[in-house]
Amino acid sequence: MSVISRLVTQVNKRPYVTILLGALVLFGLYLTSRYSYLLFHSLAEIFSVVVSFGIFVLAWNSRKFIDNNYILFLGISYLFIGTLDLLHTFAYQGMGIFPGYGTNLATQLWIAARYIQSVSFLVAPLLIGRKLRPQFVFFGYVGVTSLLLISMFYWHNFPVCYVNGVGLTPFKKISEYIISFIFLTSIFLLYRRRRDFDTSVFRFLAISIAVVIGSELTFTLYTGPYATPNMIGHLLKIVSVYFMYRAIIWTGLAKPYNLVFRNLKQSEEALRASEQHYSALVRNLAHAVFEIKEGVITWCNDRVQDIYGYTKDELIGKDASFLFPANVNPSEFQKVVSRSLKGKGVFQDSMKVKRKDGSVIDIEYSITQIPDKHPLEVIAVARDITERKRIEEALQRSEANYRMLVESSPDGVISVDNKMRIIDCNEETCRLLGYPREELKGKDFRKLLAGALPDRLSAYYDQLTQKGLIETEFEFLGRDGRTIPVWAKVVGHYDMTGSLNQALVYIRDIAERQKLDQLKDEFIGLVSHELRSPLTVIIGAVNTALTEEDRLSRDEMRQLLQDAAWEAESLSYLLGNLLELSRVQADRLFLIREPVNVRKVVRDAVEKIKRQSSNHSFEIDLPKSLPPVHADELRLERILHNLLENSVKYSPDGHKVRVSARLEGDNMVIGVSDEGIGISLHDQARLFSPFERLAVQRLLGVKGVGLGLLVCRRLVEAHGGRIWVESEPGRGSTFYFTLPLKDAEGPVEANPKS
Ligand code: ADP
Repeated sequence: MSVISRLVTQVNKRPYVTILLGALVLFGLYLTSRYSYLLFHSLAEIFSVVVSFGIFVLAWNSRKFIDNNYILFLGISYLFIGTLDLLHTFAYQGMGIFPGYGTNLATQLWIAARYIQSVSFLVAPLLIGRKLRPQFVFFGYVGVTSLLLISMFYWHNFPVCYVNGVGLTPFKKISEYIISFIFLTSIFLLYRRRRDFDTSVFRFLAISIAVVIGSELTFTLYTGPYATPNMIGHLLKIVSVYFMYRAIIWTGLAKPYNLVFRNLKQSEEALRASEQHYSALVRNLAHAVFEIKEGVITWCNDRVQDIYGYTKDELIGKDASFLFPANVNPSEFQKVVSRSLKGKGVFQDSMKVKRKDGSVIDIEYSITQIPDKHPLEVIAVARDITERKRIEEALQRSEANYRMLVESSPDGVISVDNKMRIIDCNEETCRLLGYPREELKGKDFRKLLAGALPDRLSAYYDQLTQKGLIETEFEFLGRDGRTIPVWAKVVGHYDMTGSLNQALVYIRDIAERQKLDQLKDEFIGLVSHELRSPLTVIIGAVNTALTEEDRLSRDEMRQLLQDAAWEAESLSYLLGNLLELSRVQADRLFLIREPVNVRKVVRDAVEKIKRQSSNHSFEIDLPKSLPPVHADELRLERILHNLLENSVKYSPDGHKVRVSARLEGDNMVIGVSDEGIGISLHDQARLFSPFERLAVQRLLGVKGVGLGLLVCRRLVEAHGGRIWVESEPGRGSTFYFTLPLKDAEGPVEANPKS
């Protein structure tokens, strides 16, 4: 290695070597100035002129690809700065090249060069990132420089800078300050754009400008062309030019990527960084990534093994069809991909695939075209979604279960959001309110309410937030305008912050219950009345018998007691009916079944009724030979009594009441007919229900509580038989019931609650 190249290496590595060398050069120049100032000046200026032209040559010739306008603009300006500096060198006192012009010309050229230089430094940072036409800049400088030269040499109107014997003019001095200020501002602007420069280039430029400022300020102290400030100023100028050389020429030639192609380098670096970034991303991705060219896997990441069970090596070079759309052969796969991608660039789908071990998994995959590549060069990304699918399916199942639970509920269920809008409801709600579900969804819950409830809602809301649930009764307004009384339970659902975000409203139709309650109330009233009237008769008769014993004849006394006895009997029947019913209600109705002689029971029952109503004629129409029924005798008697009593009650005096029987298979059918008022078809349907008294009877004021037929039905059913009516209004009715002839299941305990 030569000494010089070793030195250069040293210079590059160790800045103090540079500083030492620089100091030596400057000292040498200083010595030169001792010998001949003119020589010193010429050397100093020529150095700066050479560097200036060098900068221009470098910038101009790389203008096509230089990507920093600052350098290009300055580079062009340096041709003109260098030219003016060259002229300044020629015009220097003692050179004798421009006869007739004194020190003033050299000073004028100097100041013109510095103005151009400082303004160029000021403008350059503003051009970064803009469009710049080098030719225009060049001709702009030609124009400005020419004007300046013409004004000095031809028009002679360039301000005087130096007066012999007096020294520098104020114009020159003030100009130096102005120029220093412009340079200072240019450092600030450069600093703001420092990111557009390589760090060392920025530093060299900044130092160069700073030293120029120092040099300018020294020149303000200028006393004469050969004086010390002038020399120091020129030495500083050399230093400044050296840094400019380092910033532009040295960097431009030695490290063009730091200057000329800096952006290119930066984008290359960014590209490399992003490439590294992406490859790290792809490596760590939980997805399998494939590069596929014309249906063949050309690359894949390590994750493929976790998902498909195949190693990378097993997959690369293989046909991609078995990884993706199942049951598709390779050529078709290509068609599928190109068809799927048509016009979209990305295709996404999910499906089942077979792993290497034969197990089947669900994957979700996307296929993306690689931009600017053959349409069949694609990147495919696959993700195992088996677990997600399983959870989704479990969720769907559980949702279906819950929906079934809600849908099969006999109660209406409505979910309401915190703005009282209906989110969803079940079928029962729709049935109850008469709305289709779609109409209810999104509807304001308050609009469905009837009566005063909407006014009470805020109170309910408070209650709900305090207790978490409300139970109440209110009325809905059905779609057809009718009011629907409901019992409701409202349960609040709260979010993480504790505020109510949803409420579930369970509603139950209580119209039936309300009707039953009403019937029950009426029934209690009736029963009390029915109990009291026979009791009044009994008490009256017995009291009369007791108090009037002496005055009453034997027959009268007998009649009184007979009345009391009959009333007591009817009272007993009524109480008996009530007792039977309460037994049914309490599941304690026990039958004592045995073969029963129907003829005898019918006869006894008719006899008893006859005693109560001698005004009717009775006919017992039974077949000659009648087998016994398998029944509870007392209950059969009660059934007959109830039916006969009704026939008498609901048919006019003098009319006939008939009891008949016939055999039908294993049963005996017993009928009790009358020629009374009859019952309409509509009324027949509800005759055997609890507390049903038909309106007609109620209006007619016929005694009764609506229990007789219900008791008959319960007792008949307890025997395994059935009871029905055939009737025509105005022409009489026949009540039929069946009883078994044989003991089918042996003596039974019956719970025929229905
Ligand atoms: P009640 O105590 O009112 O007679 P029942 O249960 O015996 O109660 O009868 C219920 C209703 O059925 C009666 O109120 C009456 O309207 C009607 N009914 C029962 N039997 C007859 C009949 N033989 N003819 C006409 N209506 C009858």
